[in-house]
Amino acid sequence: MSKKWNLDIVRNIGISAHIDSGKTTLTERILFYTGRVHAIHDVRGKDGVGAKMDSMELERERGITIQSAATNVFWNGSEDNREVNINIIDTPGHVDFTVEVERSLRVLDGAVLVLCGVAGVQSQSITVDRQMKRYNVPRVAFINKLDRSGANPFRVVEALREKLKHNAVMTQIPIGVEDAHEGVVDLLRMKAYYFEGDNGEKIIEKEIPAELLEDAKKYRQELIGSAADFDDVVGEKFLNEEEPTIEELKSAIRKGTLSLKLTPVFCGSAFKNKGVQLLLDGVDEYLPSPNQVENEGLDQKNDEQKIILQSENDKPLVALAFKLEDGRFGQLTYMRIYQGTMTKGDFIYNINADNKKTKIPRVVRMHSDDMEDITEAHAGDIVAVFGIECASGDTFTDGETQITMTSMYVPAPVISLAVAPKEKADAGSFSKALNKFRREDPTFHIHRDEESNETIVSGMGELHLEVYIERMKREFNCEVVSGQPQVAYRETIGKPIDFDYTHKKQTGGSGQFAHVVGHMKPLDFEGQDTFKFKSNVRGGNIPTNFIPACEKGFKEQMEKGSLIGAPVVGIGIDLNDGSYHDVDSSEMAFRICSMAAFRESYNKANPTALEPMMKVEVSAPEEFQGNVLGQVNQRRGIISGTTTNEGFTTIEAEVPLGEMFGYSTELRSMTQGKGEFTMEFSKYTKAPRDVQEKLVKEFLQRKEAEAKT
Ligand code: GDP
Repeated sequence: MSKKWNLDIVRNIGISAHIDSGKTTLTERILFYTGRVHAIHDVRGKDGVGAKMDSMELERERGITIQSAATNVFWNGSEDNREVNINIIDTPGHVDFTVEVERSLRVLDGAVLVLCGVAGVQSQSITVDRQMKRYNVPRVAFINKLDRSGANPFRVVEALREKLKHNAVMTQIPIGVEDAHEGVVDLLRMKAYYFEGDNGEKIIEKEIPAELLEDAKKYRQELIGSAADFDDVVGEKFLNEEEPTIEELKSAIRKGTLSLKLTPVFCGSAFKNKGVQLLLDGVDEYLPSPNQVENEGLDQKNDEQKIILQSENDKPLVALAFKLEDGRFGQLTYMRIYQGTMTKGDFIYNINADNKKTKIPRVVRMHSDDMEDITEAHAGDIVAVFGIECASGDTFTDGETQITMTSMYVPAPVISLAVAPKEKADAGSFSKALNKFRREDPTFHIHRDEESNETIVSGMGELHLEVYIERMKREFNCEVVSGQPQVAYRETIGKPIDFDYTHKKQTGGSGQFAHVVGHMKPLDFEGQDTFKFKSNVRGGNIPTNFIPACEKGFKEQMEKGSLIGAPVVGIGIDLNDGSYHDVDSSEMAFRICSMAAFRESYNKANPTALEPMMKVEVSAPEEFQGNVLGQVNQRRGIISGTTTNEGFTTIEAEVPLGEMFGYSTELRSMTQGKGEFTMEFSKYTKAPRDVQEKLVKEFLQRKEAEAKT
């Protein structure tokens, strides 16, 4: 390391935005001003180069960012000679990719919320904002596109306050909007800034234009008033009508931002090169360094108890592999170091893979298009490592420490699809691709249906699966044929029941004998496949070496329920007693016995079908409100809220996933293309009687058809 490692100058940030608000353009400008790229390529521009961060062609075509990558830049901060080390983590915007989104939120310490100066707070900003709140991510806002006609940053600040409930406050006001947008007035320094040169790289400071002075004073008072709540010095000066210094103001705003109670607002136009550099100053000034946020790990030695990690270099290593990338540099694993130091050549241990030991051959810092080899990475840093085999989401440590950064909890998939390679010759790349995706994404599941002899993939939504099918075509040259998407139903029991089952079989000389007695009960189930097994057998009535076979038997029988053929979830088994035979009892006998005990009791315990419910948010111009509501009702949606703002209605509802097929087309045609919606898995609930009856009927038909063949 050439420079002494100083955590205070590190910022790990994400940039989040509703599609088309200018996230890619802004990122591209940041790379340019920090010297990471030497020419500006506009997104979807004529030169066909496209922005750097959207490295996947597919992303560019769809206009959504699926992959998250980390890019390291240096910015000469506003203080003299202060070089800030910023890691920009690309946050995927689409809610279908919950695990990817959540994993990237996990590794960042702060975020820039980009908003369109015309459209303001849009549906996706609301969704991402909710996730950021969940992860306690402090934010600054950037109101972009002030050069566009209809732009009004003051209205967007209002929307931030009303729709997102942010305590948003302007730190700048624009010098002109629409065609007249020239620069910004900084309300701390009370100066005007203009951005000149071919790419706005020359920052010119001037006095505030006379016609803006009154406004500037008014908004500065508002800013001081907001900042006063977070700092006694500023608070006192505000009351005494004295002027705080710039440093005092910055410190107060910083405190407010870090406590998540204040959102400082910047503005400009990324496309017209206005305001981006001052936003970078804001990232330095107001967003936290890694040692200012609390990072929780889960202690695996202690039932996943929460432990606060220390961003210190001499503590034992804890690092999270948050992203695998197989790109132009080969197989890379992106890691965030939470504690300790990771040194090239050292051994690290993968907790999620039974402490598997790996040597670190090479560590690099990624800079948009190239990389820099380093020998050490420290607590708080984000780096990429070569030559590591692991799954995304795995935690690495020094081998002694048993802390993981993410829970072993993975949500159950809600939708599935039968897939096969179009050409037989592609079978090899087909399975290679599937295995790779499974490693990258724990919410992407693959299994083989023995009865239909099909490969079934399942995941968190239609788009989630669609994207993988596209990637197979592009990255693996494998065309895929797929069936209709199927909702991943589950089944469970409605009431507890006792069982007492004997398995006895006499075949020639040796026989089979097993006897199990116990209690089966329903457990809460909202999305994770739950099964709890407890043995209370005393006095060796069932020898201890047969108990695991019993557990296995119950579990095996739960893979396919007898009501609708779906996996059985939310079951607790208490094995209380039983008996055995010296010669005829075996592991196999107890396994078969438990399976039969389950089958017999299950049908008597009121089996019920469960269906996945989705949290759906629809927004459309007000005039369509009645129709949109009607449509959601028709799809068995339960409306939980309706708000109307600036002529746009937003409806929040919970709708069964099974009713959501074809919704985007229907919504588009009903709202003349102006409506949009987002959807996120919420929970599983009991299916209504008619739905259950339909599922039972379909299951019986399938069974009948299979019996015939
Ligand atoms: P993303 O989907 O959020 O990444 O948005 P992009 O950066 O791809 O921008 C979407 C479109 O808006 C592109 O055509 C950009 O050229 C355009 N755009 C981005 N920023 C601005 C801006 O500040 N002003 C104007 N007028 N257009 C912009």
